[in-house]
Amino acid sequence: MFLIDEDTTVKGHSDFYGADRYDFTKEDHGWTSPFNPFSTGRHFETLQQAEKAIGDAMETGNLDDFERAMHDMQDFYSHRKKGYEYDPITGKWGHSKDGTKPDRDMNAWNLANEKTIAWINEWEKKWGRPKNPEGCSKKCK
Ligand SMILES: [Zn+2]
Repeated sequence: MFLIDEDTTVKGHSDFYGADRYDFTKEDHGWTSPFNPFSTGRHFETLQQAEKAIGDAMETGNLDDFERAMHDMQDFYSHRKKGYEYDPITGKWGHSKDGTKPDRDMNAWNLANEKTIAWINEWEKKWGRPKNPEGCSKKCK
């Protein structure tokens, strides 16, 4: 989830490349919030799981699916890549024991941003930039 809110020295989901036209933050709110135990696992996916979902969204052109899957991919670098998993049955509780530290990591952010740029380029090659207000949850450019 890349926590930044008050800490302006660290970057978050709304700072990634393309955040002017894609909403990478919605996955952290509502039903899919990491604080909803049914959805916490979404924020601790492997890169393979997240990129499978991105690939599926690429096929269908579903912008909402794309934005959410991109969030989960971005989370990979600060969560699963560091060994944090969410599986209460086997006693894995995400990164709650380490607080927000794993989310405050510019190196992880930069790696996630590189991947974000690559996928957005793919998306826009196929589907163009989002411009339909219905299909784009932010003010699209
Ligand atoms: Zn997240």
